Amino acid sequence: MSSIQLLPDLLINQIAAGEVIERPASALKELLENSLDAGATDIAVQLEAGGIKRLVVRDNGGGIAKEQLPLALMRHATSKIASLDDLQRVASMGFRGEALASMAAVAQVTLTSRNANAAHAWKIEAADGTQSGAAPAAHPQGTSVEMRELYFNTPARRKFLKSESTEYAWCEETFKRIALSRPDVAFSLQHNGKSIWQLPRHDLAQRITAILGAEFGQHAVNVERQIGALHLYGIAALPAYSRSTRDEQYFFVNGRFVRDKVLMHAVRQAYQDILHHQRHPAFVLFLDMPPEQVDVNVHPAKSEVRFRESQGIHQFVFHALQDALSAPMAAVEETANP
Ligand code: ADP
Ligand code: MG
Repeated sequence: MSSIQLLPDLLINQIAAGEVIERPASALKELLENSLDAGATDIAVQLEAGGIKRLVVRDNGGGIAKEQLPLALMRHATSKIASLDDLQRVASMGFRGEALASMAAVAQVTLTSRNANAAHAWKIEAADGTQSGAAPAAHPQGTSVEMRELYFNTPARRKFLKSESTEYAWCEETFKRIALSRPDVAFSLQHNGKSIWQLPRHDLAQRITAILGAEFGQHAVNVERQIGALHLYGIAALPAYSRSTRDEQYFFVNGRFVRDKVLMHAVRQAYQDILHHQRHPAFVLFLDMPPEQVDVNVHPAKSEVRFRESQGIHQFVFHALQDALSAPMAAVEETANP
């Protein structure tokens, strides 16, 4: 057996990239979250070839100072937490400081940014573990991150990518999730030069209609319940609008899209008596709670969570949803049999 050696940084980042940057859509998610963390109110996405060839996210957020640009691309470098205490009540979408470093290890990355104090923008380029120095660039306040040729230097991984149209579909789904989570932010999406989505700033109802269509809202009830620091709100479709797939199920915990067994079980149970078992409910629900009661640091992609009081959360969601769903049903029955 050979002797034990420390892995070089590039290889460490390439290994980590397997978890953080699984496909173009995961890069898109990380970049959109970075823009939101930077306080952006307008975010534009451009994709080419499903995001494999080129993926750009441009925002009007706070920007990054010139001296900090090289740090942004380094692993475990973050401006969002500084201690274990911060980690336990993290409110930002990011905090692991590995997204940009992972991207730069498996793609060609250009980071262009201008913060409020700078006379102009600066950009740096990174690929294969090396970085260029900062060069002057033209960019309004905010940041653009461009990722090109994903997995150009890790061909084994590139083979796992699906067709351009499948990768595009994943990117679009990621875009919709994030756009639903932040109706107060304007978003746009272009694919291969064609404009697909143009979303101005909205309220939640407008954003849901823009993304899921008017029919969804016409067959849905409002959900709203607050007990102490637990707050559930959003809309849930009535059985008339049920689906044959789980494609319109959006659950956000503290603003983050999650796929969680406890929450899904509570939802299923609330629909149990009113929905045929082969149909799937459609909903957009937001659960807000104190960050220290939910651990989002379960997986690098942060789409899994762990609740400290999962039983209590289950009950809360189940009852809130069951009550919301039964109210209009009762009203409909009354009008049917006066
Ligand atoms: P994390 O988001 O976990 O901190 P990232 O690798 O995604 O790690 O980003 C590293 C750092 O780069 C961030 O902490 C932030 O300071 C900076 N950064 C990244 N994207 C942006 C952006 N769009 N606007 C401003 N700063 C950014
Ligand atoms: Mg990040």
